[in-house]
Amino acid sequence: MDLLQSLGQLQKPEVSHFDLIIIGSGAGGGTLARVLAPTGLRILILERGDWLPQEAQNWDADEVFQKGRYLSKDIWYDGKGNPFQPGSHYFVGGATKMYGAHHFRLRQRDFEALEHHDGVSPAWPLRYSDFEPWYQQAEAMYHVHGLRGEDPTDPPSSAPYPHPPISHEPRIQKLADDLRSAGLHPFHAPSGVMLDESNMPYSRCRRCNNCDGFPCLVHAKGDAEVCGVRPALAASANVSLLTRSEVKRLLTDEAGTTVTGVELVHDGEQLSYSADLVVVSCGAANTARLLLMSANDKHPRGLANGSDQVGRNYMFHNSKAAVALSHEPNPTIFQKTISINDWYFGDADYDYPMGNIQMTGKTRGAIMKGYAPLETFLMPNWSMDQIAEHALDFWLTTEDLPDPNNRVTIDSAGHIHLNYTVNNQTSANRLWGRLQGMLDKLYLKKHLIERQIYVKNPMGIAAVGHQAGTCRFGTDPSTSVLDVNCKAHELDNLYVVDTSFFPSIGAVNPSLTAIANAIRVGHHLKERLAVS
Ligand SMILES: Cc1cc2nc3c(=O)[nH]c(=O)nc-3n(C[C@H](O)[C@H](O)[C@H](O)COP(=O)(O)OP(=O)(O)OC[C@H]3O[C@@H](n4cnc5c(N)ncnc54)[C@H](O)[C@@H]3O)c2cc1C
Repeated sequence: MDLLQSLGQLQKPEVSHFDLIIIGSGAGGGTLARVLAPTGLRILILERGDWLPQEAQNWDADEVFQKGRYLSKDIWYDGKGNPFQPGSHYFVGGATKMYGAHHFRLRQRDFEALEHHDGVSPAWPLRYSDFEPWYQQAEAMYHVHGLRGEDPTDPPSSAPYPHPPISHEPRIQKLADDLRSAGLHPFHAPSGVMLDESNMPYSRCRRCNNCDGFPCLVHAKGDAEVCGVRPALAASANVSLLTRSEVKRLLTDEAGTTVTGVELVHDGEQLSYSADLVVVSCGAANTARLLLMSANDKHPRGLANGSDQVGRNYMFHNSKAAVALSHEPNPTIFQKTISINDWYFGDADYDYPMGNIQMTGKTRGAIMKGYAPLETFLMPNWSMDQIAEHALDFWLTTEDLPDPNNRVTIDSAGHIHLNYTVNNQTSANRLWGRLQGMLDKLYLKKHLIERQIYVKNPMGIAAVGHQAGTCRFGTDPSTSVLDVNCKAHELDNLYVVDTSFFPSIGAVNPSLTAIANAIRVGHHLKERLAVS
């Protein structure tokens, strides 16, 4: 650790009581730690994973995509009881260690009730204008590059992006030009990387393409370790982090209104700590799991679960990866600079929202083989590389609607069971059709291949990267788990700041909203504790 004030910050704490315990160090928890560290509060971060090592394998597609080097060993079960390995990553920084660092704000209308083909996406208890200042701070904290106003669905903003848009390489510039001449509004995709194109020799990010789905070897990606946890530890000697510490249970007082203890297993040893305030930020599925595992006499269905809402309304996006193969080679290295929202809310021929299109990192043979091991079993990496050289790689996202039956539950051993039935497929298929039609019209003819697969599994239940919604916030304790400050309705000192709080998920990547919300909740906690 380079930035630490004292090695003691990473060791088993000698005291047992803190002002605040944060469980989970990803987009939500890591960001909250950074916001609160300068107050001098005594904060303990508990993280079940370890530091993700900076090693050559970080950028080895074979290791990452085919061998699953950084995948957790978790096994979850689907609604029929079939086991599957989720695409979960447990490290300091959480899933952001592997994420693509695309940082979109939800659209203004995403915060309001919005009619979709399969039903209504519910209104949030707060509006976009309530989130705007926090989005602004989130973009600064995570080094977001972009250009306001290019995208017709862009919500209003109080300031430009903190960093200029990332330039397109020639093949992507041509795609942008072609799309624009066909009447669309392609825009520079907002990305959180430490890139300075005006001074490349000194830029930490080298535009190497190894961030989407890979950890960044040189820490040039704005992830929650680099932008949240490390700055928090550096800002205050009162912040401690205990890794390899899986929290198993939260204890309450007899009345069931206050969390009085946090029980965990650290390197096989059972430990417990307490704090005035406890914040759970384990990711949507694991936060629900922890609350359900913490059932007691006063909370027989699970902590904070009098409404029976904990674990329900799980969402993870209708996502589809698509490879467009064209005769024209695509030598682009850093490909994910373009995005399209022209069909986000529908079009003249379809009244319902369809969603967002963006580029993924440039596919390589080893990545394609990792996505589809059975289909590509007989093909060596080099032959797949040749195919990949002609690929344009797209990522299509349609909103999935909250459904109370799409739900995380646990069994007696604490294993996660995830019951999920897909919805809004008509709109997802329309979006796919719009892209196909557009590329056919432009130049790709019939060379589009649907790659509907991800992390060694069909893009289905195992693709948990965008998980959200299992503890939604709201004003009515009978239909929500958290109040508008993300405090559990039923407990006076328990908060949740990961993507669990989402009442709906929109059709853009979720991290920036989780980060903005963690900053918002951090400011609420400062007020509550009268610290600055
Ligand atoms: C491959 C991939 C690409 C992605 N790309 C993007 C993108 O480009 N843009 C975007 O916005 N989003 C992207 N995402 C999604 C994004 O990473 C998540 O939305 C975000 O990290 C969620 O933040 P969180 O705080 O809810 O959970 P996480 O970041 O997952 O953090 C949860 C943390 O809690 C820890 N934890 C879990 N259980 C316990 C326990 N019992 N005790 C202690 N600790 C525990 C976990 O180890 C983890 O560190 C991507 C995800 C993946 C996997």
